[in-house]
Amino acid sequence: MRLSTRSRYSCRALIDMLVNGAERKPVPLSKIAERQEVSEKYLEQLFIILKKAGIVKSVRGVKGGYVLAKRPDEISMGDILRLTELDISPVDCSKCYRKNRCICRIYWEILGEIIEDYVDSITFDEINRRVKALKSKKMVKAKDKNKNADLIKKINVLKKERNAVVLAHNYQRNEVQEIADYLGDSLDLSRLASKLPQKIIVFSGVRFMAESAKVLAPEKTVLIPRMDAGCPMADMITAEELRAMKKQYPDAKTVCYVNTYADVKAECDICCTSANAVKVVESLKAKKIIFVPDRNLADYVAKQTKKKIIPWEGFCYVHEFIELDEIKKLKKLHPKAVIVVHPETKPEVVKIADYVLSTNGMVKLAKDSKIKEFIIGTEKGLVNRLKRENPKKNFYLPKRKPLCSNMKRIQLEDIYHSLKDMKYEVKMDKGILKKARKSLERMIAIQ
Ligand code: SF4
Repeated sequence: MRLSTRSRYSCRALIDMLVNGAERKPVPLSKIAERQEVSEKYLEQLFIILKKAGIVKSVRGVKGGYVLAKRPDEISMGDILRLTELDISPVDCSKCYRKNRCICRIYWEILGEIIEDYVDSITFDEINRRVKALKSKKMVKAKDKNKNADLIKKINVLKKERNAVVLAHNYQRNEVQEIADYLGDSLDLSRLASKLPQKIIVFSGVRFMAESAKVLAPEKTVLIPRMDAGCPMADMITAEELRAMKKQYPDAKTVCYVNTYADVKAECDICCTSANAVKVVESLKAKKIIFVPDRNLADYVAKQTKKKIIPWEGFCYVHEFIELDEIKKLKKLHPKAVIVVHPETKPEVVKIADYVLSTNGMVKLAKDSKIKEFIIGTEKGLVNRLKRENPKKNFYLPKRKPLCSNMKRIQLEDIYHSLKDMKYEVKMDKGILKKARKSLERMIAIQ
């Protein structure tokens, strides 16, 4: 069954009437025709049917037109379809000579009942409410846009006045990414912070990232717009816990992922990123390596080295919840797409991936390769960037979008207040800073 223009135009005309107040005052047919871009003559024919059925009433006079003859909650979409279509059942079995022995007939009848129940359950009152909700959503979006434009102006003025620079991680909100002077992963941005001429760094990311920027650029003022932008994975290990682990394995060297706080970095021999973790582990002479805090990255490294990896049981909840089934479903839907995942995803997801890459690695692959379709296993914020930078390529994310709520804490307003009030400055104990710096510098030296 295909709906004809008779039923579709009738529904549109009724919705138009409702939106334009037909419950209170007559709406001229010429106006409906104009707004809906339908011939007035055609509408006249349809309104004869609607009037006969008691759905609308005509009102004569200069301010005349049509009003609803019933309350909108008394008119269903089914009423209109039955009035304007000859038949709304999917198959007309009545004239078929096989109707009494057809094994499918029962199913067509059930399907017909489902369609009838469905269209009868939709009233014009409900449709009207949906239209209004959609309109107000659009208005809120438009308001937000204006507010953002205003904030962006103020941020740019403050950046100039203070000689400041905004660095944003790949997982940040879209609007934050758009105003950032530089985008990247945590280590690249921290290294950049030490090289840039600006003395004030606004780091839009999570706290451990701003700390790394401070460690590598101690002479600069590093601001994080929200102190509560933490990282649940970094929270999973403390310096004290790492000290206890080191005592348990005295002959092991300690590697810590950059996604840790400075006091944990200060306790380890060397840091690593998701891009260089294997290289860092291989660079050490020890046969046993304590690897903290991400167990999935540890597993990924363990599979590529002969050294014994002793993992900490930490994980990133965003990557941990990317399910193998979801990735497989996407692959079925997009068989030409390559699977690209972050090594923080679970081992079974990593196993079926075509590429296991850091966020920067993903940015590079999307830009430099001829591949047109990608199934991405990492935080949604990166996909926004990939789409922006590669508008002709397609990127697919699991249905349940991997979102880090901590990464989304910082909004434009926070960046504005950060610059205006110079808050929140990253400060740390000098001894910790010195030791953490050594761990980071050792890693940088082997790159
Ligand atoms: S994405 Fe994962 S590792 Fe990154 S900040 Fe969020 S919880 Fe931490």
